[in-house]
Order: sequence, then structure tokens, then C-alpha cells
Amino acid sequence: MEMKTKVSFGDGAGLYLYDNKQTTDVPSTPCTESFIDARVYIQDKPRQEWDNLSTIYFVTPTYPRREQVPELTRLAYTLLHVPRIHWIVANDYNACNPYLDTLLNRFGIPFTHLTSPMPERFRNVKSKPRGVSNRRAAMQWLRQRNITTGVLYFGDDDNTYDLKLFSEIRDTKYVSMFPVGLIASYGISGPVVRKGKVVGFLDSWVAGRRWPVDMAGFAVNLAYMSEYPNASMPFKPGYEEDYFLRSIALTLDKIEPKGNNCTEILVWHTQTKNHAREPVKIDHEYLDNRSNLGALFKALAEMGVSDASDDEGQKAIISSNGKSKPLGYYLS
Ligand code: UDP
Ligand code: MN
Repeated sequence: MEMKTKVSFGDGAGLYLYDNKQTTDVPSTPCTESFIDARVYIQDKPRQEWDNLSTIYFVTPTYPRREQVPELTRLAYTLLHVPRIHWIVANDYNACNPYLDTLLNRFGIPFTHLTSPMPERFRNVKSKPRGVSNRRAAMQWLRQRNITTGVLYFGDDDNTYDLKLFSEIRDTKYVSMFPVGLIASYGISGPVVRKGKVVGFLDSWVAGRRWPVDMAGFAVNLAYMSEYPNASMPFKPGYEEDYFLRSIALTLDKIEPKGNNCTEILVWHTQTKNHAREPVKIDHEYLDNRSNLGALFKALAEMGVSDASDDEGQKAIISSNGKSKPLGYYLS
């Protein structure tokens, strides 16, 4: 059952958050998880040398689409270089995707795969709260496991991360902040720092936000966050960061500027062009083990890239010597 809770952030700007306690609202299922770090060497050092670092909980919302597997693959190969990390991959889907389980297992990074479907009521609205149910599910997972040490970072599946980001945020005491490249028209969003202190924010969209920062532009210490059991993120597009940071009672003096006083860009809001999924017209009788095509189209379907169809979509053309020939020519 969904509960509506009125919360106030002390400035009169009350708002409704859906089930602010977040225990019942997000119907999230843990799929596969692993707490074993299978990497022997990380950044050319034996893994044991990193053992004393605090853990970074890297929360990645993701959703089924053509680009999902390539995005997660690229991100995984970044995270493979990061010691002491637990990757929480929260999928906006109502079932555990076995293909993702296998993919994530293969990297050897400690991870948790969660299902975290967006509530139905947002599916067809124009401006969707993208990645919110996912991040709420991850926060719920941290709370349920009573994880109150380490650092929380919200890292979307399509951004670009410099490895220096991870060493910068790892010692976050309350909330650290840093610029994010490629945001809106300025190509940047981030804190303005004077004498080592954050005094304001450079971001082209203020819209009343006290904390006009991007999701990728801050990290939170989990001991600090656990002091705020009502910490939450609203299903309110554009205001996710602001209300989340309000819900943990952030104040300017608690912000730790990172990246050489916010002069370096260690994370980029890269956006991948989306392509709609279309069927490929190819006779099912040819998708057997006479060639690679059967296994290939099976994998494409599991990855959510393309589906073979007997009668729909663009015809599969197979050619040799510059001439296309019917599939039967090759396979009979
Ligand atoms: N996302 C999601 N469900 C959706 C759309 C997006 O879980 O329906 C995830 C997506 O994988 C990404 C994050 O939410 O990690 C932000 O979405 P997107 O990158 O599309 O938003 P933008 O960066 O353009 O604001
Ligand atoms: Mn994005």
C-alpha cells in the first residue's frame, strides 16, 4: 500500500513524498548478488593493498532498452579499475533479468542486482522520474542491510567517470561535491568555491532549487546519511537531487569541494543516442545450429537489442562477393 507523507524541510517548502519511510513503497527484489571481489590485481596492486579503504556503494539505475548492455559493459570496465566498490545495479523492470545476472557475475566486481520497476502511474507521463524507483530501492537495500559505513554515489549507466573521481569521493565526511561536465547549455554544472568553501552553484536551471546540482555531482557518507532515517528521493522530475539533499539536512558548511576545489571535471553527463528496437525479418527455420545466426539472434533478443521475426521488420540481407542471396543458398 502506498502512503503519502507530508514532510517539511524547515523552510516552509513542504512537499509530498510517497512513503517517505520507503520500506513498503518500492517493490524491489534482490536478484543475484556477490560480496566476493574476484579481482587479484586492481590498478597494478594486489587487492589486499586496498583492504583498508572504505567501500564506495555505486548505485546505477538502468532500464531495458537497446543500449542497456553496451552501457553497463562500458561502465563495468571502468569500475573494474576501482578498488573497494560495491556496485548496486537497480533495473527498472519487474523481473530479474538472467542475462544481466550472468553479465554482472562475469566481471568479478562485488555487486547487487535489484529489480526496481517505476510505478505504473509514471509510465505514460511525459516527464518521467527516471531512475528514482531504482535509487530508492538501492537506499532501501542499504537500510535493510544496516550498512552505515562507506560512501554512497549515484552513478547513472550512461555517464563517463574519471578514475580520480573515486579516490576523491572516498574520504567524504558528510557530502562532497564537484562539477559535472556536459550539463545543459553551459556544458557544466557545479559548485562555486571561494577560499576552499562552497558559496554557490553554477547551473543554468535554478527553478527554486536550493541545491541545483546534478545526480552525478555529489557523494554522501553513509554514517552521516544514516542519521536521517527519512532520507529519500521524490518522484518529482528535476527535483530529485534537491529534495534528496534537503532530506539529509544538508547545509553549505557541510559540503566538501572535490577535484582541486571544483576546477577539475571528473564526471561527464554523456548521453547516448537511443534507437528504437525493430524486428529483423528472417525465417525462423534458418535460426538453427547450421550457422552462427541462431545463437546470435538469441543473444540479441536476450540483450534487448533486436528480435528476429518471420514476417515483420526489415529483411535480413546476407551477401557474399557483393551480391545478396537468399539464406537457403548458404544453409542448404
Ligand atoms: N532510467 C530508468 N528508467 C527510465 C529511464 C531512465 O531507470 O525509464 C535510468 C537510466 O538508465 C539512467 C538514469 O535513470 O541511469 C537517468 O536516466 P537518463 O540517462 O535517461 O536521464 P538523463 O541523464 O538524460 O537525465
Ligand atoms: Mn543520463
